[in-house]
Amino acid sequence: TKGAAMVTAVASRLQAQRKQIDKVLALFRLTQEQLVGIRNKMRVEFEYGLKKDTHPLATVKMLPTYVCGMPDGTEKGKFLALDLGGTNFRVLLVKIRSGRRSVRMYNKIFAIPLEIMQGTGEEVTAGRGFTLQGASLPSTPSSARPVRLLLSLSLQLFDHIVQCIADFLDYMGLKGAQLPLGFTFSFPCRQASIDKGTLIEWTKGFKATDCEGEDVVDMLREAIKRRNEFDLDIVAVVNDTVGTMMTCGYEDSNCEVGLIAGTGSNMCYMEEMRNIELVEGDEGKMCINTEWGGFGDNGCLDDIHTQYDKEVDEGSLNPGKQRYEKMTSGMYLGEIVRQILIDLTKQGLLFRGQISERLRTRGIFETKFLSQIESDRLALLQVRRILQQLGLDSTCEDSIVVKEVCGAVSRRAAQLYGAGLAAIVEKRREDQGLEHMRITVGVDGTLYKLHPHFSRILRETVKELAPQCDVMFMLSEDGSGKGAALITAVAKRLQQAQRE
Ligand code: BGC
Ligand code: MG
Repeated sequence: TKGAAMVTAVASRLQAQRKQIDKVLALFRLTQEQLVGIRNKMRVEFEYGLKKDTHPLATVKMLPTYVCGMPDGTEKGKFLALDLGGTNFRVLLVKIRSGRRSVRMYNKIFAIPLEIMQGTGEEVTAGRGFTLQGASLPSTPSSARPVRLLLSLSLQLFDHIVQCIADFLDYMGLKGAQLPLGFTFSFPCRQASIDKGTLIEWTKGFKATDCEGEDVVDMLREAIKRRNEFDLDIVAVVNDTVGTMMTCGYEDSNCEVGLIAGTGSNMCYMEEMRNIELVEGDEGKMCINTEWGGFGDNGCLDDIHTQYDKEVDEGSLNPGKQRYEKMTSGMYLGEIVRQILIDLTKQGLLFRGQISERLRTRGIFETKFLSQIESDRLALLQVRRILQQLGLDSTCEDSIVVKEVCGAVSRRAAQLYGAGLAAIVEKRREDQGLEHMRITVGVDGTLYKLHPHFSRILRETVKELAPQCDVMFMLSEDGSGKGAALITAVAKRLQQAQRE
């Protein structure tokens, strides 16, 4: 009959649609064999980064941090810490009491205006009493047009940071105090000592290009001088992974890996000095900031890189860079989801084939939303409500598909993290000639902390890919702030010991 024929037609259309959706989702499914391959490739990149000959071209940079020891519990005092490069920019006061290993912290979050962060910096007309240190004005301006030049972004950024420090000191009633400061700067830096760090290149949402190749501690010192209001003793510049490892190491001496799964993606670990060819000496260990976000930049992940990953990469501030980070971290996962949704909509499989203005908008899916959408406690109706909040008008079927897409993208991210982590713990085990190894990983980051499935899938993957390692995960409570203070305290202690 006619009715039956219609039902069959609808059913077969739905089936065809399902096939198309599955085809897209399948691109994000990694087999065990692929994951083993990724683990092995990561391992190769670690070795390239550590060896002098291959280091200059390595995509996983394996940067020495000059952090060689864990806190021993005798650290004490008041410290300032800066935290730049995570979800928020913060200034902190950290009080460490020795003996009881207790730490108290006060912090304030400050905004960094987008035009300072991303180099859309305001153009200023030169020659109106505006002086720029270190920048010379073009000598013969063509007289018809006013000379326009970009106000140095590094000056803007660091002046802003110092302004925030001033506000914080004011707020805490510490005006004029001369405190040691630890700077958590969560970007790749080449270090020659604990208080020197040359920014290699910006990642994530930053693009003040005239900072690249400059020492961030110098830039901060100069900005403090320009303000001429207070003096601070900048003792250490620290990557957030290192701060995280230190914070957890304060409580668990077995913690020799620091992991960030947040806005960005990175890992650090304690390496034998004899394996670090870039640094003299063979005794003891030093923490290496792997900067594994750059994994894949030489094309070694191309076989799993999808068209959606390519679109995210091309629309980013640093195309071609940080491929692994762009497949794994909070700043980009939502963007991958958005690209898939756009494609599915174009194929007529979602949102009645209508691409809304909202869906065209970059950055609408924050980690927070992905986490909510994927929560198992949510009924589909609630998923629809979240989509509605995002300005996406969905049917019930739509919301099922969106949830599946989010799941596929975040699962792949967690598995990729797991493969990377398995590579480092296996390396550490083999280097120490152990049959079996126990190790603790200190973790921080919004993706790890907020997402309902990410941490579990990450742990499962590590277990499968590094079966001879017993990996404990320890959540760090504010690793960037506390860790920077602890490293500063240790550095101070060593300075003083050296003087005596
Ligand atoms: C940076 C790393 C940082 C990570 C997590 C990456 O984009 O390159 O230095 O540790 O983000 O914040
Ligand atoms: Mg060495």
